[in-house]
Amino acid sequence: MNINYIAFAIPVFLILIGIEFLISRKQGKKFYSFNDTIANLNVGIAERLLDALTLGVFYFVYDYLYQHFAVFHIQPSILSWVGLLLITDFLWYWYHRLGHEVNLLWSVHVVHHQSEEFNFTVSARITLFQAVARTFFWSALPIIGFNAEMITTILLIHGLYPFFIHTRTVGKLGILEYIMVTPSHHRVHHANNEKYLDKNYGDMFIFWDKLFGTFAEETEEPVYGLTKPLHSNSFLWQHFHFMLEMIYAFRSAESFSDKLKVLFGKPEIINPDFRRELEEKFVIIKRKKSSSSRRFRNYVIIQMISVLILLFTFILFEHYFELITQVLISLVILITLVNCGAILEQRRWIFYLEYIRWFLVMLIGFVFFPYYINLIFISSLLGITVLYFQTLNRQYLRYIYGLRQRSF
Ligand SMILES: [Zn+2]
Ligand SMILES: [Zn+2]
Repeated sequence: MNINYIAFAIPVFLILIGIEFLISRKQGKKFYSFNDTIANLNVGIAERLLDALTLGVFYFVYDYLYQHFAVFHIQPSILSWVGLLLITDFLWYWYHRLGHEVNLLWSVHVVHHQSEEFNFTVSARITLFQAVARTFFWSALPIIGFNAEMITTILLIHGLYPFFIHTRTVGKLGILEYIMVTPSHHRVHHANNEKYLDKNYGDMFIFWDKLFGTFAEETEEPVYGLTKPLHSNSFLWQHFHFMLEMIYAFRSAESFSDKLKVLFGKPEIINPDFRRELEEKFVIIKRKKSSSSRRFRNYVIIQMISVLILLFTFILFEHYFELITQVLISLVILITLVNCGAILEQRRWIFYLEYIRWFLVMLIGFVFFPYYINLIFISSLLGITVLYFQTLNRQYLRYIYGLRQRSF
């Protein structure tokens, strides 16, 4: 049976999150908030899904570069594996540092920093755009002479490590603090305290930061999140707000050199008024503390559980799905993620999303059971939902948001 074992990372990841949640509760600390956890998981689910679909492409890039441009042909040995790990981490340091210092790269890395909490779920805040940006840096590896198998193996290990440093349940780790990136170091990186800004970029080893002058020790309680927080649960806004701010800034920059500065300068040169303008344009609703009522919280939880089960099954049996099924299931998952964010913001347009999702589920049903009778059944169901669209819309919003909900 040709199953993809990477899928088991999902339940393991969830179990570890559960353990951290219980430990933090036992310690009497509130390290988890509902909205942030959902938003973090949403980003992670999208990345896992898109990563599963595109993994072959990254392998192909490394293999192509190795076959055509490799300077050396390095054979696997203890020494070469250690060397590969060190070079990978060194490249990461620069990818990450430039990710904070160059707007083009920050526009994809910013998603990792939007959470105002700090726990294992924050490690899931990686996007496919980030993976693409990183590949440019890691392209140095096959050119040096490491083959694609070695690279993908080391990237898997290197990619797993940061999960464990996104936690507040662990204090300082003695001698390890001098060599490795520890939770304490990475808490500093995610903090917006003045003295912690632009510090601790390392992924596995902390000595790069010490070498290049970006190291800071955790000496005061970190405050997590962006210096200009988003306060939004919207899945799409979280992914694209900075790209849009950059487009605005690029358009309004008058000289060519100013336009270049927008692309390659530091994030703080982008005028904060653009964010405000965009928030008004897209009617971005600022998150209120404990804004979600139990009713739609439950609905979001049900969707998250379903989508996690769907993602697990999808990755596990990836090789058995035809392209059309892969596309349809991916769309259902992505719509669900947008939906969860929109529900937390009490958007009325989510019914249209529900409707599209319903249509896609019906289509998947037909792909799996392509019988004449099924077609009649599906068409009748769709017909009924079209006929009663307005009533269903009203009932749906009433059920999800309660009776007298003001419109947005
Ligand atoms: Zn960062
Ligand atoms: Zn992080």
